[in-house]
Amino acid sequence: MSDTAVTPSTETFDQFGLAPEILKAIQEQGYTTPTPIQAQAIPVVLTGRDVMGAAQTGTGKTASFSLPIIQRLLPLASTSASPARHPVRALILTPTRELADQVANNVRTYAQHTALRSSVVFGGVDMNPQSDELRRGVEILIATPGRLLDHVQQKTTNLGQVQMLVLDEADRMLDMGFLPDLQRILNLLPKERQTLLFSATFSGEIKKLAATYLRTPQTIEVARSNSTATNVTQVVYEVAEGDKTGAVVQLIRERSLKQVIVFCNSKIGASRLARQIEKQGIVAAAIHGDRSQNERMQALDAFKRGEIEALVATDVAARGLDIAELPAVINFDLPFNAEDYVHRIGRTGRAGASGDALSLCSPSERKQLADIEKLIKRPLTVERLVVDTPVAHHEGGSRRRERDGRGDGHEGREGRGERVGHRRPGAYERPHHHRQSQPVDDFFLKPYEPSPSARSAAEEKPAPAASQKQKQPLAALLGGLGSAWRNKPTSSSSS
Ligand code: AMP
Repeated sequence: MSDTAVTPSTETFDQFGLAPEILKAIQEQGYTTPTPIQAQAIPVVLTGRDVMGAAQTGTGKTASFSLPIIQRLLPLASTSASPARHPVRALILTPTRELADQVANNVRTYAQHTALRSSVVFGGVDMNPQSDELRRGVEILIATPGRLLDHVQQKTTNLGQVQMLVLDEADRMLDMGFLPDLQRILNLLPKERQTLLFSATFSGEIKKLAATYLRTPQTIEVARSNSTATNVTQVVYEVAEGDKTGAVVQLIRERSLKQVIVFCNSKIGASRLARQIEKQGIVAAAIHGDRSQNERMQALDAFKRGEIEALVATDVAARGLDIAELPAVINFDLPFNAEDYVHRIGRTGRAGASGDALSLCSPSERKQLADIEKLIKRPLTVERLVVDTPVAHHEGGSRRRERDGRGDGHEGREGRGERVGHRRPGAYERPHHHRQSQPVDDFFLKPYEPSPSARSAAEEKPAPAASQKQKQPLAALLGGLGSAWRNKPTSSSSS
């Protein structure tokens, strides 16, 4: 049902037949040569055909679908102020707020010389400004699934005229339990449409999704799925679990890393590590699903500006981040899901630059290491790391968990990005080795429930109170975001 694209030898953007206003924006961005995914995808998308694209963030995939979408919508662009002349015609769904924001920024840039309007909606921020913008009408809407459904329920947007749908980072959307929401959204769209599915990895589930919702898609692959970038040097360091914090500090200092993402498997682990390495004089901030949207954006912006040296992140928060020329990533924990390793190390070595992917592996993580090597089909270099200056691995607040045998730094595994804050703080979580085959919290697989803000805004029948989850802030458990980037570099505690 699908065939594989033949790589065209397109050397410049002129050869795609894009409108001058699009070419002008491309030129202003300084793009001269299409990336491989762009060279392959743009001509196919322009023909209106469905696409199944295997490409990671960092390959230029956003432009590979945005540019032809803008081109195809241009004949419908209108300068009229009437919202009726600006229905949603292209919908781009992303798993995380950060990716939605990034894609929206790109689309806005590429469409800036056209009359097409674009907008972005994601959870964690006030719905009202988003609603106002949607009511005025937008042709290209970028959204995370949960918040989009909130808007649909509130009737601030209508998806009945969508001609083009993009499922960006589809694998991550499924990982995060968005399938029920996706199905709901897909049911609201016209059957006659073009669907583009992008995914860094292709699991059986993704193939099933494509088989259900795509029509004779063209498969476009720029890097083999499940492969890791060849310009990334990967090293695994064997360290005792208790030496990991010291190891991170040592690697950052020894290698003079000025910008590094450190991956943790849990939200609490990320917050704790950020605090601990800050105490060692490294400017750090944690980003994960329990941080407010503003906190996450501020931390990310500060990191991009070079004001933060170490961004300590969970997989969900870091997914799809586009940070130019990131020299290194460190895996504080090896991921439970081997595919996450591919995504994590894809943050470095972008756009032909070289990068280092450094992973810490404690004796209890050997199985995760074996899973990764199986997935990427090659052994990784394993070295012993002697940690010169050990740093206390646990803080006072976690003693109880240590006594309980749960102080493994893996509690609070992050689930679905947008709504993960609904989880009860301190709720008991299974030890991580049981979670490997069940990475998604059951909560996230429940059918869609509108968020409280959507409910209060909608004048439709309110959901029964019993179905509303008790929402308690995790701030007390995690501490605020008072990391050094907001204050001064030597600030030692975020609580
Ligand atoms: P993406 O994979 O879409 O997240 O893009 C990764 C980065 O590459 C972004 O910063 C883009 O602005 C940049 N980019 C995309 N296409 C090109 C191109 N043809 N030439 C140079 N940079 C590009």
